[in-house]
Amino acid sequence: MHAPEYDVLIAGCGVVGATLACALAGAGLQVGVVEARPAQAIDTSNLDLRVYALTRASERIFRNLGAWDDMAKLRVSPFRAMEVWDSQGSGRIHFDSATIVEPLLGHIVEQNIIQVGLNTQLQQLIDNGNLHLLQPAHITQFQLTANAIEAQLDSGQTLSARLLVGAEGANSPIRNLAGIPCQLNDYAHSGLVANLQTELPHQAVARQRFLGERGILAFLPLKDSQQVSIVWSCPKRLSDRLMQLATPDFEVEVAAAFEHHLGAVQLLGDRAVFPLIRRHAQHYVQPRLALVGDAAHTIHPLAGQGVNLGLLDVACLAQVLLESHASGQDLGHYAILRRYERWRRGDNGLMQGLMDSFKTVFAESLPPVRWLRNIGLHLTNHNEAVKNVIMRQAMGLTGDLPQLARMR
Ligand SMILES: Cc1cc2nc3c(=O)[nH]c(=O)nc-3n(C[C@H](O)[C@H](O)[C@H](O)COP(=O)(O)OP(=O)(O)OC[C@H]3O[C@@H](n4cnc5c(N)ncnc54)[C@H](O)[C@@H]3O)c2cc1C
Repeated sequence: MHAPEYDVLIAGCGVVGATLACALAGAGLQVGVVEARPAQAIDTSNLDLRVYALTRASERIFRNLGAWDDMAKLRVSPFRAMEVWDSQGSGRIHFDSATIVEPLLGHIVEQNIIQVGLNTQLQQLIDNGNLHLLQPAHITQFQLTANAIEAQLDSGQTLSARLLVGAEGANSPIRNLAGIPCQLNDYAHSGLVANLQTELPHQAVARQRFLGERGILAFLPLKDSQQVSIVWSCPKRLSDRLMQLATPDFEVEVAAAFEHHLGAVQLLGDRAVFPLIRRHAQHYVQPRLALVGDAAHTIHPLAGQGVNLGLLDVACLAQVLLESHASGQDLGHYAILRRYERWRRGDNGLMQGLMDSFKTVFAESLPPVRWLRNIGLHLTNHNEAVKNVIMRQAMGLTGDLPQLARMR
């Protein structure tokens, strides 16, 4: 019986798949990565439309993998406070990292900057011989053998590994080929994203305004003190209309929806819109197979948790696999993979439920519900203890954290 050529084969080299590859190959495993996109140089001269609010836990993961410094050298934007308010009342809540003696709540980072930081690490691992990147390529089918999983590529090539990981995002072909059911819930919202120049400086504060039936509008501070990335989660009807507006009309509408908090705004580059759908795979694992990131779950972006949850999946799966490898166990064994699933699936489901509740409560325009949520915001804003717990949770500093997400 031949030993499989890889310990782990990863499908998808987005932020989540690339981070997993760095964590495993960096610890000495033999890793193969199959990515559908052709290899191309990443242009960081312009702002990327895909922008993430990274938690402190995600920052630690990148630091521990050696990828953070390259991102920080290019463009990361720390934010120290967050302000949330309701357009239909006086409810307002303000979180400030200083109250928990932390310098910042998190960082806003563009996707292309994260990819550049990870790519530098990936290249070193390729040069060291621990990582093999096949690009562009797709896995078309796979089957179990006595001691491995064998995957066929669209090129006709067959690869074997102890474990196959699906990290190809929300429509994961590996999840579908494995026949893993996925619960879907259309939020009936789209996420409109754009970058803006603002008249007033953002002061490193992330701001979010709940607009009732018109959705939720977030202004995320970028490195330039008068530039922000916006995410407007709103009914599809509204996002369609906003996409069609002439640029000056779009700018006027966004500034007004934000109560001119940062004054007049000017669009920088394009606008894009993403459908928002909650998905949760019924299982994250099967014998010799695991799902991570959006392949396993997607969530409403209102608290910017999507990629952060995926990075915690990576840190937990890497820990489980590396501990098992160190004790000579087979990485694809179902009992080992179940440890990862038990660690992550419940937590991810809880976060999805929490975001769904926020979305529902803040979309409601019935007067008693509006009154109650404004009272809720007001009371929470005056309760420092509760706010500190919420802040630590949102920063990813609490709970059963994997080693990779801890300070070293
Ligand atoms: C509007 C919006 C705003 C968001 N804002 C935030 C935020 O502020 N903070 C946050 O944490 N999250 C946010 N998210 C969520 C975040 O975008 C996702 O959680 C994150 O991109 C998931 O990363 P991933 O690597 O799992 O998947 P993806 O980013 O989808 O990457 C998948 C990779 O797999 C590749 N691939 C696809 N198919 C195949 C195949 N068949 N074979 C091989 N490779 C394949 C793709 O080319 C890609 O490289 C937001 C999402 C939306 C829609």
